[in-house]
Amino acid sequence: MTDKKLDIRHPIFNDDNAAREHLESLLWPQGPVCPRCGVMSARITKLQGTSTRPGVYKCKDCRKPFSVTVGTVMERSHIPLSKWVLAAQLMASSNKGMSALQLQRMIGTNYETAWFLFHRLREAAVDVNPGPLGGANKVVEADESYIGGKAKNKAFGLPPKKMAVFSLVEREGCARSRYVADVTAATLREAIVTQADRKSYLMTDEAAVYEKLAPSSPATAPSTTRPRSM
Ligand SMILES: [Zn+2]
Repeated sequence: MTDKKLDIRHPIFNDDNAAREHLESLLWPQGPVCPRCGVMSARITKLQGTSTRPGVYKCKDCRKPFSVTVGTVMERSHIPLSKWVLAAQLMASSNKGMSALQLQRMIGTNYETAWFLFHRLREAAVDVNPGPLGGANKVVEADESYIGGKAKNKAFGLPPKKMAVFSLVEREGCARSRYVADVTAATLREAIVTQADRKSYLMTDEAAVYEKLAPSSPATAPSTTRPRSM
C-alpha cells in the first residue's frame, strides 16, 4: 500500500475479510481495543463460531461485543467493507479530488451507493477539523435531497424507504451532508445552525420550508431577498 499506484485488484479492495483485517491493522496496530473502555490485549477475546460473523471481539470489562468499525463512519453500514476501503483509498490518493460519479465508475457500485460513500468519507475527512462552514462574507448553500428507495439498492441492504439528506455547501469550499429525519423547518434549522457559521450568507433553492426557518435573534431576521443573512 506504500506504492503510489493503486492496485485495485488487491485483496483488501475485493475481499471483505481482507478489508477488515487491513482496517484492524491500521486502527489497532497494537491489537484490538474496546471502543467503550479502551482496554486491550488480555481483556479482549475474539468471538468465534459459526453463528458469529468474523471480526467480532468481546470486552471482558464491559462485556460488550465490538468490531473494528464501531465508532467509525463505517459502523452499521451494509455496504461491503472492501468498497469502503477502495473508495477511501481512491479519494485519498486523488490529487485533484473526484466527483461521486467518478467514484461510482471506479468502484463499480450503483450511483446511490457511490454518492453515500463519497459524502460520508468526505465528511469524515472534514470532521478532523470540524469548524463551522462559511464565515463572514462567505456563501453557504443549503439543499436537501433523497436517496434510496430503489429495488436495485437491495443488494447493499439500504433501507427500502427514501432517506432525506441535507447538505450545506460552502461556496468554493467544504461541503457537509447529514441524514435528517425529515425536511421540516425545525429539523433543517437545527442542521444549519449547528453546521454553519452564523456570519455566512445562506443560499437555498426555492423550497418553501426554508422560509419557515424562524429567526432566533435579531441578527437572523428573515429577508425576502436572497442571499440572506443567517
Ligand atoms: Zn469494554
